Amino acid sequence: MKHFPIFLAVEGRRIVLSGGGDAAMAKLRLLMKTEAHLTVIAADIADDIHKWASQGKLRIIERAMEPGDALCAALFYAANEDDAEDARVSAIANAEGALFNIVDNLADSQFITPAIVDRDPVTVAIGTEGAAPVLARAIKADLEERLPTSLGILARIGKSFRHAVEVLPMGRKRRDFWSSFYFNAGPKAIAEAGETGVIPALEMLLDNHIMADTKEGHVDLVGAGPGDPELLTLKARNALDKADIVIHDRLVTGEILELARREAIIIDAGKTGFGPSMKQEDIDALIVQHALDGHHVVRLKAGDPTVFGRLDEEIEALEAADVSYRIIPGITAASAAVANIGQSLTKRGRNSAVRLITGHDTKGYADHDWAALAQPGEVAAIYMGKKSARFIQGRLLMHGADPATPVTIIENVSRADQQIIATTLAELEPTLTQADLQGPAITFYGLAPRDAASQIENIREFA
Ligand code: SAH
Repeated sequence: MKHFPIFLAVEGRRIVLSGGGDAAMAKLRLLMKTEAHLTVIAADIADDIHKWASQGKLRIIERAMEPGDALCAALFYAANEDDAEDARVSAIANAEGALFNIVDNLADSQFITPAIVDRDPVTVAIGTEGAAPVLARAIKADLEERLPTSLGILARIGKSFRHAVEVLPMGRKRRDFWSSFYFNAGPKAIAEAGETGVIPALEMLLDNHIMADTKEGHVDLVGAGPGDPELLTLKARNALDKADIVIHDRLVTGEILELARREAIIIDAGKTGFGPSMKQEDIDALIVQHALDGHHVVRLKAGDPTVFGRLDEEIEALEAADVSYRIIPGITAASAAVANIGQSLTKRGRNSAVRLITGHDTKGYADHDWAALAQPGEVAAIYMGKKSARFIQGRLLMHGADPATPVTIIENVSRADQQIIATTLAELEPTLTQADLQGPAITFYGLAPRDAASQIENIREFA
């Protein structure tokens, strides 16, 4: 982030603008929405600006800017559409302590003005650091459409009602109240009775909430998918949106955690191979405890929670404590990975079964039916197969598997740094050692990437 977004308190403060033409007017239209005292300084000032001055919206000084004109100003805009003049006036403003912006000159400005969606007091600011104004406009248009115009009214009335709502206990109950006001009772009241209907609706809603029983805690056991936030299910997104507590494992990406409700407490229960790790019993206890405290807990697991996710242990702990829970499936690493090499997990005439196997379990390298897997046409997706690669390779070859059987390793599936490595069983080791993968990887035994280059990016050929 090269620019840090903030909301500046400008009520009663000075904002000075130098310039009197089109660029000045465009900025002034925005600035007049604020409660700041506006001063426009220019030798030549457009009629519209004069009109605004006569309406008391701003003050005019009709001459070129001079030292002293920006004293005590919080912000300064140079909008002369003349580089030399803009440089001169912003140097004055800078010396006088105002933060300055030169219109259409990102590089020399101390701040930039975002695209704004105005539902005062709700304001959305959109910035792209100057990189993509078109994108900012598209996002703005999208939000304008999505945020009802009544939102501003609701927020204003809601603010005046905040004190009354303090009878509800802080946290979940209060949040539930406000969320049904903004998204349900409030818009409905405005639609039916206009602004005057809002306060009675608020009072009725508050009564209902005071009477309602305290809600019990609940746990959603949620699949986060392989990493790309777009591979989350809508159910998972909704659960994250409502979470009080998010307990996630190591492979869940930051991009996904960012989707959690802003007030949610995020707990990393990551079980790294080395370093600090949390024992499964401790994780079980943590989930149960937060739910018993009345929270909505989202237990976020990479991929699908039902695949090598130790889900059953957590369910047993929840059932023992009589906590309600729900399982929200996710896209498992194998599904996302096979899609990214343009293949199917099963294929008529090749394999009518596919195995999801793990390279190791709690007891060490995991044993499987190697003789069956060694048969031609078999396909297996191997999870946690990096360290155990040599063991798996040895077992399969020993049971007569063809050394030329294709093997594909996909690291960081669905993420920006995804890497696909095509090799064979004979070359699995040393290929893996050579590749020195740092991220999570899934290995397909019996599958090669489809040749169509259009399907695949970043294939590294080994062997
Ligand atoms: N529940 C998860 C699997 C957890 S076991 C799922 O359904 O995907 C952890 C293993 O999953 C990792 O060692 C790796 O083999 C695989 N894995 C998970 N996310 C991955 C990703 N983004 N890319 C590659 N492999 C991944």
